[in-house]
Amino acid sequence: MRVAIASFEFEGNSLSLRVAGKEDFARFGIFRGDDVVRTATGKQLSVTGALDTLNDAKAEIVPIFMSRCVSGGHVDDAFYDEAVEAIATGIADALPLDGVYLSLHGAMICATEKDPEGGVIKAVREKLDDSSIPIAVSLDLHAHVTQRMADMAQIIVGYETYPHVDAYRTGACAAGLLVRAIKGEIAPVTRIRKYNAIVPVLGGATLGDEPMAQVAALSRGIEADGRALSVSYFPVQPWLDMADVGITGLAVTDGDPAAGDTVAQEVLDAIWDRRRAFELPAMTPADAVRAAIAYPGRTLIVDAPDAMGAGAQGDSPALLSALLEVAPETEATVYIVDPETAAQAFELGEGASARFHIGAKQDTRWFSPAPVQATVERLCNGTFTYSGGPASGSKASTGQTAVLRSGGIQILVGSLPFYEHMDEHYAACGIDIRSCKIASFKNLMNYRKLLEPDVQYIPIHGPGGAPLRLQDVDWENRQRPFWPADDTEEPQEAPATA
Ligand SMILES: [Zn+2]
Repeated sequence: MRVAIASFEFEGNSLSLRVAGKEDFARFGIFRGDDVVRTATGKQLSVTGALDTLNDAKAEIVPIFMSRCVSGGHVDDAFYDEAVEAIATGIADALPLDGVYLSLHGAMICATEKDPEGGVIKAVREKLDDSSIPIAVSLDLHAHVTQRMADMAQIIVGYETYPHVDAYRTGACAAGLLVRAIKGEIAPVTRIRKYNAIVPVLGGATLGDEPMAQVAALSRGIEADGRALSVSYFPVQPWLDMADVGITGLAVTDGDPAAGDTVAQEVLDAIWDRRRAFELPAMTPADAVRAAIAYPGRTLIVDAPDAMGAGAQGDSPALLSALLEVAPETEATVYIVDPETAAQAFELGEGASARFHIGAKQDTRWFSPAPVQATVERLCNGTFTYSGGPASGSKASTGQTAVLRSGGIQILVGSLPFYEHMDEHYAACGIDIRSCKIASFKNLMNYRKLLEPDVQYIPIHGPGGAPLRLQDVDWENRQRPFWPADDTEEPQEAPATA
């Protein structure tokens, strides 16, 4: 049993200004051949789960390519083409193959290719030169799944959880179905159903009895009943300005496309029926700070519109400005991307005081830099290791990073946007969020792992690269009517991919 594996992951955002090129992917590593196995082994990545499953099945593994990058706007054509070419060439060189496993995100955007993951799968399929050789794909729960992807891959499996804690399981599940398909035990076929609707990411937790947890429970029930081999749900990365993006239900069945359609429709309707429940209350930055001061315990303020994992720049000073105005002496901490200010702090050195102008330098559409008189408390290199999540065990960095202090506020000024998991980035620079009355985060879900009995969270709303109110976004390419811009009780089919 000879199986090739490759991974190429990026989450795009049409509202983000960041373009990811080769150097951005290289920062996280561009691995080929045996380096893929060396890098993924012992981690909790989707690729790790697939590798372990294939090894258990005594498969001969041909590792080809692995690269990922922090979320942003889009991948430039040069690196997309290079990655696809590397994967396609690797497949051609690896023939004959019995199967292929691909770890993709599913919400990649490119300058030219309108269906980037579909393009990767198509390139693989063309090299295989035999439509019966199974391709298994694992995806993020926020994937934008196209019909072409479902047509070209026999097996597609999405994360079950948000916060994402099951990347390993997802890779293992996809690879497990692949092994069974290669052995001829099953004849998997993937079907999708999609509506022209998007829902806020913030309300999409699979925790407790929240809306997506109910959809997850329904899906696990369908699998347990044997109506499908695997059921996935995609509430979708909503800041994708493309007509064919929408909430999606997906089913992999054993050679029964009609049953797959029925199950995918059932799961899709379960998301649609709960669409209003995805809206969570949020406050202005100043009101959130006031509410935090009034609360007896600690507060995590969620700077949702500037969420870096959603593709935003991470350089909004909106919350910092509110803290300086409303609660300058309260023990609080914020992270802001501003390489200029970080470099200025390094030039001044620890202990120096100066007037800084922080944030709003890379994304200047909504705010001006916040003027702050502050002391350089600490300088650090910003390197840390993820303690969980989809990149668990991998290293990341905020680049050249300075801790500035103004009154009670510690401002962590980094040089790079990054995927926030928990508080690894604060801890790496000596900030203990447990000693802060207010700690802020620029992610949409992982902060919930930091909740304790005396800790509350408050999302803030406002302008940014990941705005909460999707109906207010100036969409250029979405087809009307769609939810939530048009309040219709009748779900609309998502348009086909152009
Ligand atoms: Zn996701």
